Amino acid sequence: MRRNLLYPSSAQTISATRRDFLRGAIGTLSAASISSAALASQTASVLRPTQKTIVVTFGGGARDEETFAKDGQENIPNLLHTLLPQGTFFSHVVNAGILGHYVATASIVTGSYERFDNFIAQPPPNPTLFEYYRKGLRRPASDAWVIAPSNGFQRIGSSSHSSFGPDYGAGVILPKRLLAAALHNSKSLDADRLSYLLQDSYEMPLYQPLQTSIDHELHLDTLSSTLKLSVDEFLQHARSLDSADELSIFITKQLMKQHAPSLMMLTLHDMDIAHSGAYSLYIDAIQRADRLCAELWSMVQTDPEYKDRTTLYILPDFGRDGDTDPGGNGFQHHRTGGAMARTTWMLALGPHLRQNTIVDRPIQSIDLVPTIGSVLGFSTNSSGKPIRELL
Ligand SMILES: [Zn+2]
Repeated sequence: MRRNLLYPSSAQTISATRRDFLRGAIGTLSAASISSAALASQTASVLRPTQKTIVVTFGGGARDEETFAKDGQENIPNLLHTLLPQGTFFSHVVNAGILGHYVATASIVTGSYERFDNFIAQPPPNPTLFEYYRKGLRRPASDAWVIAPSNGFQRIGSSSHSSFGPDYGAGVILPKRLLAAALHNSKSLDADRLSYLLQDSYEMPLYQPLQTSIDHELHLDTLSSTLKLSVDEFLQHARSLDSADELSIFITKQLMKQHAPSLMMLTLHDMDIAHSGAYSLYIDAIQRADRLCAELWSMVQTDPEYKDRTTLYILPDFGRDGDTDPGGNGFQHHRTGGAMARTTWMLALGPHLRQNTIVDRPIQSIDLVPTIGSVLGFSTNSSGKPIRELL
């Protein structure tokens, strides 16, 4: 029997349940705002010249039980009570692709379900959002960045497509590689103490360094030329942080300050520690991601370059396995391909978007790229469809 991955019947249930939980949680949604029928009337062209876009993915995803369901809501107070009332929430986002973090994130940024081996660091075959953006709008290299705590994401900034490629891609910053290079350079005695910030993410391609000394030099150059940070400043700040995701937010802040890029993607990945089986650390990471999303939105609203001109999209790359799925081990992994692991959500906030709105109709994670293309005014060759509620 052919399985319908796109709209599994139980996914409808997940979505409806998620909506009901939300209605109970925030209580202020009007009947009209729950309907997806009414669309924003402002045209994107009004905002186009100065718009900025930030995409945040949760690498590893988080299940409803630990987030939007009744028992999980205490973990996401910022998403629920601060951000959701300011944005449009999609309760039924389907990822019908491969549930590995690198290939799934590549699928989100190309708008096509990529089929390559998740464990090999390689450029996606289809053009990325960054290439469409930079080529289509003739934007400079300094305008598009990816910040990825997973070292294996080193090739995600551009594709191997013959009409695009690195000349049009995003700069990719791997905060853990920056930190490793800084520690090496300073001969710091902190290396052991900071090792918790250096541990690479789970189930990723292996990082493929150039010759070690060249590799360190490249990362140190990023630190000084791009982020305008000295090794000492960087290490001093790192010592004050609790996790790799916090390090990524710090890098994001520094990029915003130095270059005010118009297109950024940030992957938060602490929560994938769930693979180790440590439920409490998985919960800590969800709570941290929730806090960091609010911190990022606050950074946006207090920076004149970003305030009132930035659209923020937050979405997990996919979910995790259900507790009752006999093929899995509950929250720990995402290996069954079941509806819990494929059905997630997206929250979008921006000056042209409806606030306090929940959209129930199914969309796909590959719809994001053509949506951003339509909003900003460049064409994409994605198999996804622009999300009409966000145009
Ligand atoms: Zn994972």
